Amino acid sequence: MTDPKPLLETRDLRTWFDVQRGLFGKRATVKAVDGVSITVAPGETLGLVGESGCGKSTLGRTVLRLIDPTHGTIAFDGVDITAQSQSSLRPMRRKMQMIFQDPYASLDPRMRVRDIVGEALDIHGLASSPSEREAKIEALLVRVGLRPDQAPRYPHEFSGGQRQRVGIARALAVEPRFIVADEPISALDVSIQAQIVNLLKDLQEELGLAYLFVAHDLTVVEYVSHRVAVMYLGKVVETAPSPSLYGDAKHPYTKALLSAAPTPDPEKKRTRIVLQGDVPSPINPPSGCAFHPRCPIAKKGLCDVEAPALRELRPKHHVACHLAE
Ligand code: SF4
Repeated sequence: MTDPKPLLETRDLRTWFDVQRGLFGKRATVKAVDGVSITVAPGETLGLVGESGCGKSTLGRTVLRLIDPTHGTIAFDGVDITAQSQSSLRPMRRKMQMIFQDPYASLDPRMRVRDIVGEALDIHGLASSPSEREAKIEALLVRVGLRPDQAPRYPHEFSGGQRQRVGIARALAVEPRFIVADEPISALDVSIQAQIVNLLKDLQEELGLAYLFVAHDLTVVEYVSHRVAVMYLGKVVETAPSPSLYGDAKHPYTKALLSAAPTPDPEKKRTRIVLQGDVPSPINPPSGCAFHPRCPIAKKGLCDVEAPALRELRPKHHVACHLAE
């Protein structure tokens, strides 16, 4: 069976920022995303994991063109949107939405929930009359597990989980096909994280949504993702279908991340691999394989000199490591 045509496809995507080091320091370049090629098929979830500062949120924002890329291409539904102006992007924007980490910060505290959700309908002209607008808002609130009588309330009158439901209703209002979910549960109480994750899964099944699910919690990513991409210092270092990645990770960085993740099955308990130090600065990344200063199996004269390319070690399982086999 051939793979479905990707809904989203990036090729050699780079998002670099010019920064000044200190008040009078020299200008430098932060390579937040540095040559990333990913695909997301219709109805698929690609989980994006890595430590904070590895570039995953920047990648999520770049594919939606909330940040302009420095190099490479982004295609959505077969259309190259890399260089489209913001006005010509507008019809496409409807199809690509975002759910944010902090549902409170992303909702205007002065707006009633009715207007937060209704604004998206207004911008894209998706309700032809006030009564249709109201009916759509109510249906969206019910769809995400809220009540229609909560529409007149303000964000501060809701709990964190309910606010995230409002954020999801706002994203759904424009009938998207693709959603970047940027750490959508990490600001929520553990007790309600599962409810939001299950809501996202139900919506995917019902509406055929595709997700780029950005998270640092590997257990959640395994639960929601069909495929996973692991990022380190702006690059994808391993990507594979979830069972392949979680069952037989090949990259030393992925192995270390997995060894630190809690597992409900004691039989599957992994030996903890403790990584030395923090993620190096993307302003001045290490030579060769950027992971080499922290890698427990790095080979001198190879890993510190030559950057490894992504290789397909098993069907659909790609790894950027000289020594992985
Ligand atoms: Fe470690 Fe070398 Fe593989 Fe990089 S290329 S992950 S340093 S073994």
